[in-house]
Amino acid sequence: NAVPPGIDPDRLARLLDRERLTWIEAHPKAAALRERARRSQLHGTPQHWINQFPPPVPLTVERAAGARLYDTDGHEYVDFGLAGTAALWGHDHPAIVAAIRDQVGKGSVTLWSHEDHVWVTEELHRRFGPPFWGFTVSASDANRFALLLAKMATGRQKILMFNRAYHGSLEQTAAVLTPDGVVPQPGVELNGVDVRETTKIVEFNDLDALEKALAPGDVAAVLAEPVMTNGGAVIRPEPGFHAALRDVTRRTGTLLIIDETQTIPAGPGGCTREFGLNPDLITMGKCIAGGVPAGVYGMSAEVAAAASAYTKSGDGGLGSTMASGPLAVRAMRAVLGEVMTEETYAHMDRLADRYERDVSAVIARHDLPWHVGRLGGRVSFAFTPDPPRDAGELYPRVGGSMRDALWLYMANRGIVLNAMSGAALMSPLTAEADVERHGALFADAINELTGGKG
Ligand code: PMP
Repeated sequence: NAVPPGIDPDRLARLLDRERLTWIEAHPKAAALRERARRSQLHGTPQHWINQFPPPVPLTVERAAGARLYDTDGHEYVDFGLAGTAALWGHDHPAIVAAIRDQVGKGSVTLWSHEDHVWVTEELHRRFGPPFWGFTVSASDANRFALLLAKMATGRQKILMFNRAYHGSLEQTAAVLTPDGVVPQPGVELNGVDVRETTKIVEFNDLDALEKALAPGDVAAVLAEPVMTNGGAVIRPEPGFHAALRDVTRRTGTLLIIDETQTIPAGPGGCTREFGLNPDLITMGKCIAGGVPAGVYGMSAEVAAAASAYTKSGDGGLGSTMASGPLAVRAMRAVLGEVMTEETYAHMDRLADRYERDVSAVIARHDLPWHVGRLGGRVSFAFTPDPPRDAGELYPRVGGSMRDALWLYMANRGIVLNAMSGAALMSPLTAEADVERHGALFADAINELTGGKG
């Protein structure tokens, strides 16, 4: 948890103490609710992550609207966290709300077909490329199903992922690369699956290691984000990386799964369209149904042929009675048809440009060796002077207390950032004034933390 370069450790400690105290004093109702929750929830939080987030008392949201959150203690926040892209379109986008309102009362789950399903799978094909599509309840499930299909299609059991990637709550990907090889993620026990046997890991952008790992021909699929977004920074593929990745996977009979879950802010066809990628399988979820739990996976004609044979009879392990319900699919149709438009992306990009400029200007003014990363409507920064090449170099994690301090500083003044990474997302409902406000507060916070040398 080292202090990032350029920051005065004493000032950081003082600011953090003060902001924690301020937060606690301002949230008595949330604190009482947490104590009540402790009797029926692990850590007194509905998801264990919340317990690891910066605020000493969880942010307890009464209501969310626009790109704003309203808490139980009466505070209002601009929400740049947007549920880690799950709420990318804002909390009450009119087109999504209208579609959901209209569908409620006409059936939420039926386990039967509807014209909306066909419209959605045709549209996913048009935008992202793969011809055949299936429905799941989450992005985690989309990745789980994609891996299952890849194993079934290739007859191989191992998978390969990039170090420190996150692909959802999957047993096979709860692993990291260390000098001693692949080990279970810190804090995760063997999880019932021995990741040392099932999972190969190389660093992002390391084509030599990738080539070596795939050479034995025992890997069913490479599961990859097209641009790494997890782990606190945007990590871009180097020129030629995707072409080489596609080439080596083809040569070794390995399938390529592109996980677009967090890269939808890159453009209306994700990075797959932006970069002209041609994966065998593609997965996504989160914002795809505008807040109704849903995921989808797309597959090539070859994978579809294998999957088709596999699912002719029996349970297959690919279904859920809760997947592809008309409520979720209607919401998907609204998202794809009315929200993921060029205008939406132009707005998100314009605001992200402004946010990035504000942060970069402060960093430059104070001569801080930090790097601002950007992917469409997403902005984040890493405490490294150059753009990170892989996520391994960001560990052991520098600046955890700095991220906590900034999160609390902002939240005590009405701005919520991503609680894990500090990243910001722009939604179509985010206003320019919100971004302006962030820029001013960021300047004040860094001034205080550096001693105002800038
Ligand atoms: N893939 C990626 C790249 C993700 O970042 C996440 C979640 N952060 C997931 C998959 C899983 O999404 P969910 O938790 O909604 O299942």
